[in-house]
Amino acid sequence: MLILGNWKMNKTIAEAIPFAFELSRIKIPKGTNIGVLPPFLSLSAVAKALEGSEISFGAQNCHHEDSGAYTGEVSAPMLADIGCKWCLAGHSERRQYFGETNETIRQKIVSLLRHSISPVLCIGESLIERNTDRTYAVLSSQISKTISDLDLGHEFVIAYEPIWAIGTGLVPTPKQVSETTEVIKELATKLCPNTNFKVLYGGSVDGANCHELAVDNIDGFLVGSASLSLSKFEAIINNCSNKR
Ligand code: PEP
Repeated sequence: MLILGNWKMNKTIAEAIPFAFELSRIKIPKGTNIGVLPPFLSLSAVAKALEGSEISFGAQNCHHEDSGAYTGEVSAPMLADIGCKWCLAGHSERRQYFGETNETIRQKIVSLLRHSISPVLCIGESLIERNTDRTYAVLSSQISKTISDLDLGHEFVIAYEPIWAIGTGLVPTPKQVSETTEVIKELATKLCPNTNFKVLYGGSVDGANCHELAVDNIDGFLVGSASLSLSKFEAIINNCSNKR
C-alpha cells in the first residue's frame, strides 16, 4: 500500500516541522509506504524533519520547463535537488482553478520523468460526467492524452480521484472503485504495455472508510484533508495496512 498525503495549501513552516517530526516517529506497518506532499515553501523543512525515517515526500505541482522566465513557478530539477520522490500532475483543483489541460499535464510528466521524480497522474470525472455515463470516456481521454507514447519506465502511479468525492465526504462504492480501477489499469496498460501501473484512490478517504475502499486491485490512497491531522492520517495507515 502506498499512502500519500496531499496537504494542498495548508501548514506554515512552523506548523509543518513538528507535524513531520511526529509523523516520522509513528510505526509504519510492514508493506506500507507513506509519503507527504507539502506546499513548496515547507518542502525543505519537511525533508529535514523526515530525515532518517521511511517516509518519503514530494510536491503538488511543477512547471514543465527546467528554468527560465516563468514567474512564480518551480521546476522539476529544483524539486529533484531537494530530494522529492513524488510530484502530483493534473490534480483536479489545478485543472479547475489554474487551467491545466491534459497537454500541459503531459509536459509536466515528461519533465518529472527526465529528472527521476515519480509523477502521480491525477484523473477523475465530475458528477455530471458520472451521471451521464461518461466516466470511462473522460478517464480514457485523460489517460491517453497524458501518457500515450511516453516511456514511463517500470512503474507509474495514477490517482483516481472522482471530482465529486474530493472534500465532500462522498465516496464511490467499493465495487465502483474496483471496476474503475480495472478499467484504468486496462486502458493504461494498452497504451504503455511495458509499465506496471499502480492505482491509488483519492476522495474523502478517512480512517473509517479506508478499509472497505482498499479493494483488491487498489494499490493505495491519495489523502487530502485527513492527511492534515496526525491522528486521522495514522488511522488510515493502520486501518488499511492489513489489506496488502
Ligand atoms: C485530494 O484533493 O487529493 C483529496 C483526496 O482530498 P480529500 O481527501 O480531502 O477529499
